[in-house]
Amino acid sequence: MSGQNTLLPNLKTNGRKEYVKQADINHLVKGVALLAGGILAASCITTELSFPVRGFLFCVGAALCVIGVPFLVKFYKEVKAFKEYVPQWDKGRGIFDRMAKELNVWYEEGEELVSCDGDTRYYLKLQRDRLEDKGLRMQNVVRPVKGKSFGTAAFSRKSAWYTTDMLYEEISRELRFLKGPQILYQRQVEQVMYEIVVHTPNEKETDHLMITCPNCGAVSPVSQLVEGCRYCGTRFRMKDLFPRVVNTYFIRTTSIMKHTTNQRRIMGILMLVMLLVCMPGVMISSEGVIPIALFTAYLTALICGGVGGFVITSFMMIGSLFQRDGMKHLPLFRTLRSRSRIKGMMKRMDPNFSYEKFEGQMVALIRMAVFAKEPQNLTAYCGGKRDDRFADIIEMTYTNGMCLQKVRQNGNVLHLTLRTWWINYSEVNGKIIKTGDLIDATFAKNVARRETPGFSITSVNCHSCGGSFDAVRQRNCPYCGTEYHMEEDYWVIEDMKLVR
Ligand SMILES: [Zn+2]
Ligand SMILES: [Zn+2]
Repeated sequence: MSGQNTLLPNLKTNGRKEYVKQADINHLVKGVALLAGGILAASCITTELSFPVRGFLFCVGAALCVIGVPFLVKFYKEVKAFKEYVPQWDKGRGIFDRMAKELNVWYEEGEELVSCDGDTRYYLKLQRDRLEDKGLRMQNVVRPVKGKSFGTAAFSRKSAWYTTDMLYEEISRELRFLKGPQILYQRQVEQVMYEIVVHTPNEKETDHLMITCPNCGAVSPVSQLVEGCRYCGTRFRMKDLFPRVVNTYFIRTTSIMKHTTNQRRIMGILMLVMLLVCMPGVMISSEGVIPIALFTAYLTALICGGVGGFVITSFMMIGSLFQRDGMKHLPLFRTLRSRSRIKGMMKRMDPNFSYEKFEGQMVALIRMAVFAKEPQNLTAYCGGKRDDRFADIIEMTYTNGMCLQKVRQNGNVLHLTLRTWWINYSEVNGKIIKTGDLIDATFAKNVARRETPGFSITSVNCHSCGGSFDAVRQRNCPYCGTEYHMEEDYWVIEDMKLVR
């Protein structure tokens, strides 16, 4: 099932099949109502009504109970099935699912990803090295959320080079850090997983469109990879090269579905408790007439438990909106203003500028500079000594907050200072700590040069001889020795501060 949004023509959703649906609350309501009514009618046997009436009411009551029980059994079975249900990714649905599945396999077995570009693979390797240095293991399993959801949403933007899709979906994520067999930390969170995917390259531009070789990682124009990579000789078909995930990140969320489940549970429990609590009182006040006592108790439970539960859960819902999971306060208006400021400024320099892509690039650079063992070796990092606390970070969740702090232009070089919002996990003295962090990073780039589409931080082309080389391990071209300056092609980090 896929739908086109009429308000935002670039937004499409691809629904996910619910193999096991959430239990039908109607079954519970019917079952409880029949049972309650049945018990009430049957309890009339204890009154002083004439025997035929009592007998009749008892039979009716018993019948209602017999009809009601199967509904409860059905509801219980549905709840159990839903609880045991583990939604799976479906490779046939496309790149979003493929990438999610590959990520799970990476964290489980260390098998390399194939749907993403070299930069994402590199960042994952840096993270794995950091964990290994600390003697830790990280388990990270992402799954589609259970119950009703909009499925995968896609926001498309076509440029002169290719189409860029921002795909996102609500997921449930299990995060666990282990030292040997011991679990140091675990938690299950609901997040939105984002994947930035490029596909459908412009056939006329394949000579200029750069992409990393899926085999050796060197950067070459798409047209050349189709004829055979000049570094490793592998030939690729267009469908081996595209679509490709160029960035992925997670953002925290609270799903409506979780709230509804909570609300039902709390209302149900409260009703039951109210029923039991007021039973003795109503027995006394009704002078032992059981049907009247029961009826009063039902009414009390329904009103107090139902209304009370609704009010309590509504407050909880409002509370959860303000609960930022340790994330530092994000000034909403400043964020929005800063977003339009960045857009306005960058659009003047590059008409193809996309904020989503820019945001993804900045996030990827920061992640790489944080996870690198020695950031000074990264061509994309020109800052001084890094804050020692960065070396303890083992997992980073970007929380979709980015504010422009300062802009400065020196000739053709633009310097931007951005404040970014994160939830980070660090290992300090054998303990895992979760912190809401701000990272203030200053980026620089020569804005006179148009950015090459498909630019890779890990593999670059020498400005002097054109040779492709691994910019992560060396700053000088291995073919001609020329020093490589990434700020000529791409953003570099000049400074990075941690505010905790
Ligand atoms: Zn190659
Ligand atoms: Zn060179």
